[in-house]
Amino acid sequence: MKTIITECFATIQGEYPAGVPSFFVRLGGCNLQCGWCDSTFASYKVNESQQSYIGDPSGAVNFVAKSFNSFKKAHPKSNISNFTITGGEPLLPKNSLFLEELFIAVKALGVSIAFETNGTQDPQYAYKLANRIGVTVRFVVSPKLKSSNQLTGASDSMRREIPHSSWESIASLVRFKFVVSRDTFTGDVEEIDRFRARFSDLSNIQPFLIMPEGIKFDGEWYKSIAEFCFKNGFDFCPRVHTILWGNERRR
Ligand code: SF4
Repeated sequence: MKTIITECFATIQGEYPAGVPSFFVRLGGCNLQCGWCDSTFASYKVNESQQSYIGDPSGAVNFVAKSFNSFKKAHPKSNISNFTITGGEPLLPKNSLFLEELFIAVKALGVSIAFETNGTQDPQYAYKLANRIGVTVRFVVSPKLKSSNQLTGASDSMRREIPHSSWESIASLVRFKFVVSRDTFTGDVEEIDRFRARFSDLSNIQPFLIMPEGIKFDGEWYKSIAEFCFKNGFDFCPRVHTILWGNERRR
């Protein structure tokens, strides 16, 4: 199976943990089709001619390492200590060989890994692999709510039922993050509360993050979500890249 890398770039992490320099590896392909997806070019509208790399896993890892080394050469004082593997959905099984080779390369570079995943794929393969190779790994899991407006015709359960069993043993390495929309806010919060109740037996789970949907910064909207989070036991997750650069690519 070919590995698709849509793009690699260095920037500050705009979501979680916001403000931290990170090197992003965006893999192509996703099992969901969210209506408000801000990276359809990497999820369900993948145009092969617009991808940075399509080929075997070893070539993909070489491509990533070369991109990172060029950045480091141009910015020797930068202190990037983390790779964010995003997408698309980076935990799809088709990427497993790629992950193995990537982890080996990442270990040599002395950086850690963070996955940004929709939570539908079992993380245990990536977690165990990272442990075996000796790479620090964590997961930002963004389950998709009904308002994500899946367009594939797939059932709601496929989108929303994130298996408890997949995440319980590694809960301390996970931050669950939910995107809420203006028009569906009340229903979104009800769904998030049901999810919170389902995972409340995990003592080491961290507060859920809530992030406002939108590709344009709107101060009032951000403020209302921040205040909601403060009063209701959630952590506010900004979209710093949106505040700074709108919907620009590679930011
Ligand atoms: S899960 Fe993420 S990458 Fe996939 S379609 Fe939804 S928002 Fe886009």
